[in-house]
Amino acid sequence: MSILNLSDFTGSGDVKAQLELAFNAGRLPHAMILEGSKSNLPEILAKAAVCLNDGEKPCGHCPGCVKARAGSHPDIFTIDGDANPRAFPVDAIRQIRSDAYIKPNEAPNKVYVLLGAQNMSEISQNALLKVLEEPPENVLFILTAISATALLPTIRSRAQIFSLEGAHAANDVDLAYMEKLTAAVTAVNEADFLFLTADLMKDKNKLRAVLAQLMLIFRDAAVLRAGGKVCLSGQKEPAAALAAGLTRDRLLLLLSEVQKAQRALDQNANTALLLTTLCANLRAAAGR
Ligand SMILES: [Zn+2]
Repeated sequence: MSILNLSDFTGSGDVKAQLELAFNAGRLPHAMILEGSKSNLPEILAKAAVCLNDGEKPCGHCPGCVKARAGSHPDIFTIDGDANPRAFPVDAIRQIRSDAYIKPNEAPNKVYVLLGAQNMSEISQNALLKVLEEPPENVLFILTAISATALLPTIRSRAQIFSLEGAHAANDVDLAYMEKLTAAVTAVNEADFLFLTADLMKDKNKLRAVLAQLMLIFRDAAVLRAGGKVCLSGQKEPAAALAAGLTRDRLLLLLSEVQKAQRALDQNANTALLLTTLCANLRAAAGR
């Protein structure tokens, strides 16, 4: 019987117990979404999946663990969409899809780690969905996202979601507040946005949640503008208002400014500076 060894996991919370339960029950879920702050969990889980030890996994010293640690394991594939938001072109996902049906090279499992999956386009997510719907045996998909709500509902329903620190559900943010904040991006006066975000300087978790929701609203606006219908934010009105007033290029610029702010936050940027910069950049992107 194998047991998940999470002694190297630096995070905290209920997620440990949930993961141990899932793993120790025998079979790992074939797809999991880790939502919230970045952690070393994807590495640990990938290592556990290729570990050749019979007891605790990852053991840290078998050939599988050693190669995984060196980043040279032939059965672990990682795409880092946190470092590069454009890392998920649909071709890359299609390649993963066909590769997933080929047996592992040497490990008991094959692992695909998709970091920052909130940066996947709808087309790429739909391409991924095909393999999640009919998962090959012994394949594990590990997706990380700021929030699972940033992924299509169809993807979420095919994966087991684990919430880490900093995770938020859409209902954790005040929707009326988000509507005001979205309106402030295109308001005449830039003081509106700064006034609304003043409290976020002291609360990084809340700031993270607000940025994630803002990103979803901007993405919905871009989709609406292009004639699509998906509403991931659950806030159609502010998205529709933006879509009516801005070009698709401007909406995509807004989206990339929020992504920049999210990365800065992950790198522990000063929040006051982050918000002032974000305000100026969003307004410039909106042509204000
Ligand atoms: Zn091992």
